[in-house]
Amino acid sequence: MSTFQAPKGTYDLTPPRSATFLAVREAISAPLRDSGYGYIETPGFENVELFARGVGESTDIVTKEMYTLTTKGGDQLALRPEGTASVLRAALEANLHKAGNLPVKLWYSGSYYRYERPQAGRYRHFSQVGAEAIGTEDPALDAELIILADQAYRSLGLRQFRILLNSLGDKECRPVYREALQTFLRDLDLDEETRRRIEINPLRVLDDKRADVQKQLTDVPKLRDYLCDACKAYHEEVRALITAAGVAFEDDEKLVRGLDYYTRTTFEFVHDGLGSQSAVGGGGRYDGLSEMIGGPELPSVGWALGVDRTVLALEAEGVELDLPATTSVYAVPLGEEARRVLFGVVTELRRAGVAADFAFGGRGLKGAMKSANRSGARYTLVAGERDLAEGVVQLKDMESGEQTAVPLTEAAAELAKRLG
Ligand code: AMP
Repeated sequence: MSTFQAPKGTYDLTPPRSATFLAVREAISAPLRDSGYGYIETPGFENVELFARGVGESTDIVTKEMYTLTTKGGDQLALRPEGTASVLRAALEANLHKAGNLPVKLWYSGSYYRYERPQAGRYRHFSQVGAEAIGTEDPALDAELIILADQAYRSLGLRQFRILLNSLGDKECRPVYREALQTFLRDLDLDEETRRRIEINPLRVLDDKRADVQKQLTDVPKLRDYLCDACKAYHEEVRALITAAGVAFEDDEKLVRGLDYYTRTTFEFVHDGLGSQSAVGGGGRYDGLSEMIGGPELPSVGWALGVDRTVLALEAEGVELDLPATTSVYAVPLGEEARRVLFGVVTELRRAGVAADFAFGGRGLKGAMKSANRSGARYTLVAGERDLAEGVVQLKDMESGEQTAVPLTEAAAELAKRLG
């Protein structure tokens, strides 16, 4: 029988690369945790209707990419393709918006599922860290999120990313633009599917990557020319605030993003070392989403950054994260008696908060020392029969190579002291 493999479009995170993933999650969430965002976790699946209404019936995500299932009880569920709709659903359900403390600021980290055509940087299972600020319309909040994402990427050492920024208008001006856009698009030479898209979600046509479509869009009406005064002023304020923070961005009026719920501020983080799947993160304002899923009016803004693509971006830039060794002390017993004694010392060390590991399996000195080296431990403890007879263990400093005999009863305390 052949062995099993991870399903198509997925991959496993295994050591040592998995440590980079953890560090990326940590680095993206750290600025959020320091800025008043509280942790939220929601189920990996939701009622399919939440995404149909929340993400949009006309989006690729809902029409083509969702993993849907019918439970034995007859419920129609979908593996979550994105985080925002779930987080807003959960916030409404818990009445977080009624606690009188708006905006409700939340961050999350988890797995997302999209039945996409797999390629480099595009998977069917991927990880995001996201942030949502619910219930407040304030350009400083949009600016805060963009600045925090920039800070997160920079803290990882990434430099070759760019921020694309646009405004999609609001419920006053967007419909006027939509109609002008539809009138223009209907006259173009487009295939059936794109024609259907013109009627359901014309902004998405702007996003079409095909050259023959882009060629026809040179004189397309610009959303910028249709923004109402309130949207213009709001957008100018967002731009001014991120500029004042020293965060560089590019105005990109073609940026519409693939989800229906965005209004006003939209942005994307792209990395130039990633080829066609260059978006490492994105987000925007979604003032109408709460009402779309049955809640009150709650203007909100958020983003999600892709962990997988951020790791690829680090690799593309050749950034090696400075990940400290996880093991400080490695114990190598030589013989039965030493195994019992050193295992006791390791347990004592761990209880004292020292990261310690042990050469299991009764291996010889040479092989065990190789493992000690590989563990990155600063100190090795070695003990054989003669050491035990003398009541000592050999403490080896792996950096200097220096070895000293330490009384067995003082080994744990001595190590705790040396490691600070
Ligand atoms: P989106 O919700 O489509 O705006 O996605 C936000 C971020 O999640 C993107 O910028 C990517 O970094 C990441 N992402 C989305 N879809 C995938 C995928 N299929 N595979 C890997 N990462 C993805």
